[in-house]
Amino acid sequence: MAFQTKDEILHKILNMKKPECPHCKTEMTLWEVPEITFSDGLGWGTPYMFVCFNDKCSAYKEGWDNLKETTEYNASYRCINSPGTDNFEYMPVFSPMGGKGQILDNDELAIRKAYKEAMKQGFIVLTDFYISKAWDEILKMLLDPTNPPKVRLKAVDMIQELGGVEAIDPLVNHKFPFPKLQEAVDNCVKALHEKYYTKECPYCAEIIKKRAAVCKHCNKKIKNN
Ligand SMILES: [Zn+2]
Ligand SMILES: [Zn+2]
Repeated sequence: MAFQTKDEILHKILNMKKPECPHCKTEMTLWEVPEITFSDGLGWGTPYMFVCFNDKCSAYKEGWDNLKETTEYNASYRCINSPGTDNFEYMPVFSPMGGKGQILDNDELAIRKAYKEAMKQGFIVLTDFYISKAWDEILKMLLDPTNPPKVRLKAVDMIQELGGVEAIDPLVNHKFPFPKLQEAVDNCVKALHEKYYTKECPYCAEIIKKRAAVCKHCNKKIKNN
């Protein structure tokens, strides 16, 4: 992806079938990630996404209530999909117009401010967990789609350093919507396998010892090379 120009990426995406929102079954809209969230290093890592802009979508409607309890911002989520993947996550929006491209300058600044604040909060919480080596809590933050991508990227780093072998399964089973994040997680899984001398059984996908000749879960013979 990194070696393609934005135009090449767009051309490819325009030939894709638009996905349906898993919540409301509405066809999703192709959306250009605004410069502020793309180039400001906020971590989406993709210039285009599919977004569900249906105001009656349950993810969007319930988001207002959920976020009211957890943040000081009046905000909700829109369901998003990174083109070419089949996983769906969420981006925060701060008004019904949020993300629609008609945002006013003030709104844009508000989004930037809220993102920065969410990141700051996220890093503070991560640091606490890091100090107490609570990698399972850090894992929860990584899997939570409402955390800013940059916070989730930092969480991957920490799990790579602190995580137990039990971290591998949830990491492998979760599909991450942003190429950069997915790549970081893949590398983290590799590093954890190395650290614990384990690997994935090629037949049943259970975690086994690197040197195992027979899988203890499915009893298949494993070639070691
Ligand atoms: Zn929807
Ligand atoms: Zn097996």
